[in-house]
Order: sequence, then C-alpha cells, then structure tokens
Amino acid sequence: MKFDQAGVDALMEITQRPELVFVRGEGSWLEDHNGKRYLDFIQGWAVNCLGHCPPAIVQALAVQSARLINPSPAFYNQPAMDLAKRLTDASCFDRVFFANSGAEANEGAIKLARKWGRVHRDGAYKIITFDHGFHGRTLATMSASGKPGWDTIFAPQVPGFPKATLNDLESVRALIDDQTVAVMLEPVQGEAGVLPATNEFMRALRRLTQERGLLLIVDEVQTGMSRTGTLFAYQHSGIEPDIMTLAKGIGGGAPLAALCAREDVCAFEHGDQGGTYNGNPLMAAVGIAVFDAVSAPAFLDAVNERALQLSTGLQALSAKWDMQGERGVGLLRALKLGRGEGGAIVQAARDRKPEGLLLNAPRPDLLRFMPALNVSADEVDLMLSWLDEIIAQVRR
Ligand SMILES: *Cc1c(COP(=O)(O)O)cnc(C)c1O
Repeated sequence: MKFDQAGVDALMEITQRPELVFVRGEGSWLEDHNGKRYLDFIQGWAVNCLGHCPPAIVQALAVQSARLINPSPAFYNQPAMDLAKRLTDASCFDRVFFANSGAEANEGAIKLARKWGRVHRDGAYKIITFDHGFHGRTLATMSASGKPGWDTIFAPQVPGFPKATLNDLESVRALIDDQTVAVMLEPVQGEAGVLPATNEFMRALRRLTQERGLLLIVDEVQTGMSRTGTLFAYQHSGIEPDIMTLAKGIGGGAPLAALCAREDVCAFEHGDQGGTYNGNPLMAAVGIAVFDAVSAPAFLDAVNERALQLSTGLQALSAKWDMQGERGVGLLRALKLGRGEGGAIVQAARDRKPEGLLLNAPRPDLLRFMPALNVSADEVDLMLSWLDEIIAQVRR
C-alpha cells in the first residue's frame, strides 16, 4: 500500500507521527501499510485492555449495532443499566454517569464536586490536585492537571485547582481552606511516568479528607479495569473514595467513560449534567463485554502473573544495562533508564526488522509499558529479549 501524503495533509497537525499507517490489529500485534508487524506494548495508550480487535468486543458491537445504537439519552436502555449495575456491584459507588472520554468524565467529576460544595459546603469549589498529574485536555481538566507548562498555553486557566505534591500529606493539608471542596488524584500518575501514590498516602488522604469534610476523587482513567491487578486501583489501599472516573480500559479501545459516585455525593439536579452520547447502548454493550472479561478472578490472576514476569524481566535489564530500576503497579510499569535515551529506543524499536516493537517514552529517561491485559507469557518474553537487543544497538 502507498503512503497517503494527501490524506496526511488533510489532517490537522497536532503531533509528530511516524510515516506509518496501521491497517489491522489482532491481540498484541499491529500491522502497517507495508505489511510489517509490530508487537504492541502501547495498546492505544493503555486503552486496549483485551488487545486489538478482541472477539468479545467485535461480537458485542455486531450484535448491539444491529439491535439498537442510540435511542437518545432521554430514554432508558438496558445495556447502560446493566453496565452501571455491574460497576456499582463491584465497587463502593452507588451511581454511574456514562461519558465518552476520560476528560469528559473528569469534567463531570469536577462539576459534581462543585455542585456538592454549592449545596452542602456553602459554595466551596476548590479541588486540590497534584503536580505532574494528568486529567485530560478540556480547559478545566488541563487546569486540574499539573503538567509543566500547561498553566500558560491556553491562559487564563479555570481557577480553583491548587497543586499539592504526591505522597506528601502536609502539602495537601497546607492548601486546605474554607473554599476547598475536594482532593483529586490518580492512584498511579500515568503520564508523569508511572508514579504510584503509596497505600499509606491513600489512607492518610482518606482520613484527612474525612476529617475536613472534603470529597476524595480518584481518576482511574488509566488505572481502572484491572490494569493494576485489582479491578480498581483504590482497592489496593482498602479505602473508599467518594467519586471515581473510568475511561481507557472500560471501552477496550472504543470511546466509553464513566463517572461513579456514592449516593450522598450525587447532587446533580435535572439539567446539570448530560451529553448526546451519554450511556448509548452501543458503547455500553462494549463496556459489558470488557467488564465481564477483566473482572473474572482467573483474568486478574493472569494479569498479576504477567505483571510479576514483566517486573522481574525489567529489573534484570536494568541490572544488565546499569539503569535505575523499574516501578509500577500491575501491568502499568516503567523502566528508569537513567539517561535520555528513551526517544532513541522508541524509534529503534519501531524500526526493528523484520518485526517492530511499539514502546512509549513519556519522559526522555523513562519507558512506559502498557500491554494488553491478556498479553501472553511468550509475548512478554519476546518484548524483553527484543528490548535487550535494541538497548545494545542504541548504546553501541
Ligand atoms: C488518558 C487520561 C485522561 C484523559 O482521558 P481521555 O479519554 O484522553 O480524555 C485522564 N486522566 C488520566 C489519568 C488519563 O490517563
């Protein structure tokens, strides 16, 4: 197949992309327009939790699209109710609002907290978020994010998001005033380079927010749906947050997100929240297929086995190549390179012949691994041996 330059020129330029057009995917493998295959440890930025084109999702889309795609969010549909029931049964939350992206679910969480503050806390509206946090690309979620430089690109920001330091309780306490309504964080900061909040920090944060009458919001867009080896990452610390957002994994690659909340936090009045596509049965049917796959005990066992295998393998590579170790939770892991060779490794891995390897370097000195949750043991071993080969090539 020829590379379609005219098609490329018709797309708005928002990032640098390699001259590759992906035409097909299956499990942990992608194929480009030249027929070259790639082992994929990016998986659409951790969205394809069941790999590319999993039969369960293909089937759900085929069946539901032939039955009912969208009756309008002003009416009930059974798939939305069935998925909401699954999520509330499996978590500490009582109610779910479905959205289409992580940013939109987080925008909803911010609105819900502000509404709750208006009703119950005398108009308190500030939400403490964290340096290096990532919550999405709408104006409010960019303002809530702590990515360096994001405070000025589209200035002025949406006000009310003071930034604390992850795993530093005193930095949170110091920011609380009578206008504070909530604290919001990723249980593992993904875009920042896979930085986990410790279980102690999560528990201390829950105690502090309870003492001060604040809501605790967990952004589980990247960590939810078994990515970290439990269905939701907050479960590692045994706490119960007030609000949780999900996206990425819950759609298995299709656009689906969820805003989950405890009953006493659900302060929206009619008209406060909505969206044309919210809770559409087509995406809800996909969400059900994904949920039923990733919540099975045997599935979670396999995620934890692969996570241990990946972690052990990365530690061995780190020791061999004099790097600074690895970190992460479940199948969201990072290798600390100790030098700025991340970009070179990503490119050499992609260019590898005859088969390529897709990796992500969220920072120049770090590689992030987000394989499909059903990646096989052989595929993890293959990735590790190819990575070893590529590091040798880059260091040469
Ligand atoms: C990806 C991500 C988002 C944004 O999700 P979109 O679907 O891209 O809007 C928000 N929060 C976290 C933690 C993420 O990883």
